[in-house]
Amino acid sequence: MERETQAIHAGYQIDPTTGAIVPPIYLSTTFERDADGSYSHGFMYARHHNPNRNALEENSCTLEGGAGAAAFASGSVAMMTLFQALAPNDHVLAPDNLYFGIQQMLKTLFAGWGLQSDFVDMTDLALVEKSIRPNTKMVLIETPSNPLLKITDIQAVADIAHQHGAMLVCDNTIATPILQRPLEHGADVVVHATTKYLGGHSDVMGGMIVAKENNAFFQKIQEIQALCGAIPSPFESWLTLRGIQTLPYRMAAHSQNALKVAEFLSQHPNVEAVLYPGLSSHAGYDVAKKQMEGFGGLMSMLVKGGQAEAMAVAAKVKIFARATSFGGTHSLIEHRASIEAPGTKTPQNLLRLSIGLENVDDLIADLGQALA
Ligand SMILES: *Cc1c(COP(=O)(O)O)cnc(C)c1O
Repeated sequence: MERETQAIHAGYQIDPTTGAIVPPIYLSTTFERDADGSYSHGFMYARHHNPNRNALEENSCTLEGGAGAAAFASGSVAMMTLFQALAPNDHVLAPDNLYFGIQQMLKTLFAGWGLQSDFVDMTDLALVEKSIRPNTKMVLIETPSNPLLKITDIQAVADIAHQHGAMLVCDNTIATPILQRPLEHGADVVVHATTKYLGGHSDVMGGMIVAKENNAFFQKIQEIQALCGAIPSPFESWLTLRGIQTLPYRMAAHSQNALKVAEFLSQHPNVEAVLYPGLSSHAGYDVAKKQMEGFGGLMSMLVKGGQAEAMAVAAKVKIFARATSFGGTHSLIEHRASIEAPGTKTPQNLLRLSIGLENVDDLIADLGQALA
């Protein structure tokens, strides 16, 4: 099946008891045993399995081309599970502009637990190689990255990680499996905040881990999922799967709109720089072209001036909403540095834009009047 068909059909079946085309939401926390004590339907207790969650996991697994998937209540707890599946004194090599909350998680919670971590520029392959330690078990990348939209060469970093016996985990939240399938480029594990594009309508949180192999590491992930229960509810699973049905079409439209906005902004006299991997001037353009099938809907612009000038632009938009997050139908604009903790390296004149599915001429006009 092709992507568009997989997005709609993988994990899906017509309800066998009623013929319902839209799957029911199974709220039951518990499931009946057979007379002989077995569970012939495959369900026992909702922390372990639920039909809506299983369907979502199967769908994501198919789209990413993995061997197994595990759904979580948020992208953050999916990341937490990846770290918990390691052991104290293991080392994680992570990107220097890793999603801010995950950086905090490693530097505070997991450092206290004994997990070591370093943060490096993953586009500098010599530095990546030099930073690997004997106890490095996981190399984590995020490409494109947030909010600087840096592009990491997945295959090149996978090769370095594997030479040193480490696994490569790729956060694929910004690209989605429609535009980039990291498992085909050497990654061992893909992680998502389904809160963003997969859900796609800014109305449901979730996370997803997809593994290339059903190995001991993935089984540990499933063990943590079942033992600790940081799972999405049946309704959240249902909503996320509903969102994924239109993912291929949404990603195409997000990408098309975003490229036009990026081209407009890069010509604007009040814009110092536009960070978008679909622009040929972007440092990661060639690598992005090699490993992506489109460039997505997220970008950042550096407004001429400093924080005050950037805030003034954000204050004037009328169609864009001033809000965090990305991946929904509505366009959003955000001054990143002031939402991240003090000490952030994000430039003070940076505004991150999540380009939604409105008509692109309206979006360009809105940014034009705000920048004027
Ligand atoms: C949003 C996001 C996360 C965290 O996901 P939540 O669902 O908000 O917990 C992790 N990584 C990236 C790249 C994100 O954009």
